[in-house]
Amino acid sequence: MATLTTAEPPAKPRTHTKPFVPDFVYFEPGALEYPKGIQIMDWVKSQNIPFKMTTSHNRITGLPGDTELQQYKNAKRTLVVGVRKTLTFDQSKPSAEYAIPISTGCMGHCHYCYLQTTLGAKPYIRVYVNTGDIISAAKKYIDERIPEITRFEAACTSDPVGLEHITGSLTELINFMAGEEYGRLRFVTKFHHVDPLLDLKHGGHTRIRFSINSDYVIRQFEPATSSFEERIEAAGKIAKAGYPLGFIIAPIIWYDGWEQGYADLLQRLAQAMPDEPVKDLTFEMIQHRFTKTAKATIEKRYPKTKLEMDMEKRKKKWGRYGQYKYVYPDEQQNALREFITERIFEHFPYAKIDYFT
Ligand code: SF4
Repeated sequence: MATLTTAEPPAKPRTHTKPFVPDFVYFEPGALEYPKGIQIMDWVKSQNIPFKMTTSHNRITGLPGDTELQQYKNAKRTLVVGVRKTLTFDQSKPSAEYAIPISTGCMGHCHYCYLQTTLGAKPYIRVYVNTGDIISAAKKYIDERIPEITRFEAACTSDPVGLEHITGSLTELINFMAGEEYGRLRFVTKFHHVDPLLDLKHGGHTRIRFSINSDYVIRQFEPATSSFEERIEAAGKIAKAGYPLGFIIAPIIWYDGWEQGYADLLQRLAQAMPDEPVKDLTFEMIQHRFTKTAKATIEKRYPKTKLEMDMEKRKKKWGRYGQYKYVYPDEQQNALREFITERIFEHFPYAKIDYFT
């Protein structure tokens, strides 16, 4: 087990993570037949962002950049505004019944992000303007399952909070779900831009989860996302706005000083919460894991990463996607789980831990 020495870098002045503004925008012509498409076009023009029309949001070619790496970086700063044609939702077990598709792709540069492998050649950010159709489809799924509750996850393939200032789609979903006795919305974010959501009448039907980590992990491995302080402050605002709240501590990383890092994280979170216990607070814990494919992609995209991916130091586990994944050996897993669980219950004795995986 690591000692209580700290590898936290000296505190840097607090930064302000600005809302995302893409470098380039593509519109599908059909997108401009929807109010949201026009609203986004107006925003793009007001920001003087170059744009052009494209035939389909699935076929964006010719992104600038001499190397694959440059093209990847440019793609993550490219927004594609389209119409969602597939209104059959994917399953999103175990945390929700369905994934609700409002956006795909993300401007964050988390070294370990699974979107790098799942989105393959399409790392650009797509947002869908026909939220009315998407909501109608959700309504059908809800009605089919009554009297069971149906949960929808809005962040399976994206971080929609980071796009809310452009689309307003989460606001629409939260408003819709507030009136659905049998429907629930949930999403997870690494962005702190939650102000547009604070005054909504959510009816307690939307659970907002923050993906959080030690300051060290956020600084080292999560560029282009909101900082440790910003996320903690945003979580406090969401708790005060009465939303069901959750935290995903992921990926939990073993580094020299991890105990101090995770102890600080839980202490700071507790300080940001309202005085009265937060109702129905949940924690999810996910240790860092990787596959061989992910490791190869990460080393190509983030060649200087300090992310430790030494297969010799890991335990092999068969994954459900037909590939081995590499997790920490049992002794390290147990140490991480026990230490962080104790800190959670020390500061949040009323919280529920959903799982450690
Ligand atoms: S914020 Fe989330 S979706 Fe975006 S790059 Fe980071 S891990 Fe991936």
